[in-house]
Amino acid sequence: MSKERIYFSPPYISDTEMAAVMDTLRQGWIAPVGPQLDQFEESLSQKFQYPNVLALNSGTAALHLAVRLAGVGAGDRVIVGSFTFVAAANAVSYERGVPVFMDSERDTWNLDPGLLNDYLKATQGKASFPKAVIVTHLFGQPAKIEEIAEICAQYEVKLIEDAAEALGTTSSGGRFVGGVGDFAALSFNGNKIITTGGGGALICKNAADHQRAQSLASQAKMPANHYLHEEMGFNYRLSNVLAGLGLAQLGRFDEIMERKKARFQRYHQALKGLPWLTPKEVSGANGWVYPCVMDHEIGVDELIRRFEAANIEARRFWRPLHMQPLFSGAEYVGGSVAEDLFRKGICLPSGAGLTFQEMSRVIGVLEKV
Ligand SMILES: *Cc1c(COP(=O)(O)O)cnc(C)c1O
Repeated sequence: MSKERIYFSPPYISDTEMAAVMDTLRQGWIAPVGPQLDQFEESLSQKFQYPNVLALNSGTAALHLAVRLAGVGAGDRVIVGSFTFVAAANAVSYERGVPVFMDSERDTWNLDPGLLNDYLKATQGKASFPKAVIVTHLFGQPAKIEEIAEICAQYEVKLIEDAAEALGTTSSGGRFVGGVGDFAALSFNGNKIITTGGGGALICKNAADHQRAQSLASQAKMPANHYLHEEMGFNYRLSNVLAGLGLAQLGRFDEIMERKKARFQRYHQALKGLPWLTPKEVSGANGWVYPCVMDHEIGVDELIRRFEAANIEARRFWRPLHMQPLFSGAEYVGGSVAEDLFRKGICLPSGAGLTFQEMSRVIGVLEKV
């Protein structure tokens, strides 16, 4: 293939990030503690009004600790919005919990509060009543989180937000998502809106949970002059070197968002002439990716093949978890919203570093269809 590959959502790294990593190394804080780590947590907390932030080595680790702190144990049910990445359901399995998958609503494509309310009402007082609910803000589009939080509060169920894709996203109530539930997970994986190469963070509404999470993430070491342990912990903390990278990325967050917006305007313009491809716009979304619904006889697989032929990486939507072989036989609540989206959805390349020339190549493939 002659033309250079256009990746789906590559990291957007500048000299600022490189200098930040070098500085961190020079200062000698290479362990998973250090001033950059504290500052990274503090900056996330200030910029997005998050209560208690704990930086971890992945978003999945954050989901796992959230599930554990929500009190989920063997056999406990946890509601998981089905239209998402597998990490949320795996986190439930790590604690021997049982995921119950639930469909999306059509407005934001996230967990349907109506279905949730009906389920909690029907199972109230029974053994099948869930311990927690995990809601994803998919593609950086805010779920109906205030409504969901109200339902969870009414039934006294812990609410975990999977905000891995949604840093900077605001809810219809004007709050940054991730700061609404009892717990939230962020991810700084390479393809997310800001990156530490690999990393994540757990947000806890209350300080006691935060303290416990901090202990669990550091092998549950007790305060003593030697290694003393009373319970099993994990090695989940983010390296201080990577926190240095995260801090530099966070300093460029607004610039990254601006660049994404400019690129989305360009796509919007181009897609006006293509009635078979409809971009999704949810107010408050951070624009992590550019998701579209396709209504054309060639289908999404063929469109992805045509992008591949032009050396362009486009992606299908997440395959709903209730359709995954890993969870065959799991309980599923709802209809076919997530299934329809999976069949018809495609995300166009959307990195902040994408050039307008590269976008013309992407649009060219679409126009040929
Ligand atoms: C990326 C992602 C995760 C996992 O984050 P890692 O940092 O890769 O462990 C979890 N949930 C969703 C929705 C994601 O997109």
